[in-house]
Amino acid sequence: MKQLTIALIALTVMAAGCTSPVSKTSVEEVKTTPEYTGEAVNHEFAALPYAYDALEPYIDAQTMEIHYSLHHQGYYNNFLKAVEATGVQNASLEFIFENISTLSSAVKNNAGGYYNHSFFWSVLAPAGSGGEPSEALFEAINNAFGSLEGLKEKFNAAATGQFGSGWSWLVVQKDGTLAVTGSANQDNPLMDIAEVKGQPILAIDVWEHAYYLKYKNKRVDYVQNFWNIVNWNEVNRLYQEAL
Ligand code: MN
Repeated sequence: MKQLTIALIALTVMAAGCTSPVSKTSVEEVKTTPEYTGEAVNHEFAALPYAYDALEPYIDAQTMEIHYSLHHQGYYNNFLKAVEATGVQNASLEFIFENISTLSSAVKNNAGGYYNHSFFWSVLAPAGSGGEPSEALFEAINNAFGSLEGLKEKFNAAATGQFGSGWSWLVVQKDGTLAVTGSANQDNPLMDIAEVKGQPILAIDVWEHAYYLKYKNKRVDYVQNFWNIVNWNEVNRLYQEAL
């Protein structure tokens, strides 16, 4: 009984401490989102550029259907809700990402999920149809990674080494050179909070929902097989656009 009484007194003292006024001297600087002055964007949910079974056997049809029609659609729907009445609901995604540190985590996660998946679909193609790196891109890959194999090693290491959910990216940095980087959750290299910033030209989704039905816990097999379905024609175009 004595111990209980002491515990109760301790709790009362702690509770009283919680209600005391909080010092205002350590309040973080509040950043406001700048005004968007570009052309108004009507954010749309684009059709998948191929059939659900188009990337078989490397990505199975059921995974593609769930990934696109449930996960991606969910991010899109939640992005529209989260961005509503923020003042940037009709801003470009690029603008939103450049100012993501001034917006809510709901906007960050869902704008990221919306964009990252659209981007991912665009850099995949049925096996044998994606072409190969252009001469210019091949030279940039050699300069940055020594060889195409060097790029694959670095990219795969980022993808398999990403703890938990996230992405691995190949980006064109401000100075025009290539870099590989990873991101957690639905973050991406366009965001102002990114450690390595740049224009994405290739990415792989390493969330378990991207591969678990077929590959189970073998993320490394999924990542290796990914190279069979890269849409190099699109990567080449994105590289030229980013320069
Ligand atoms: Mn995904």
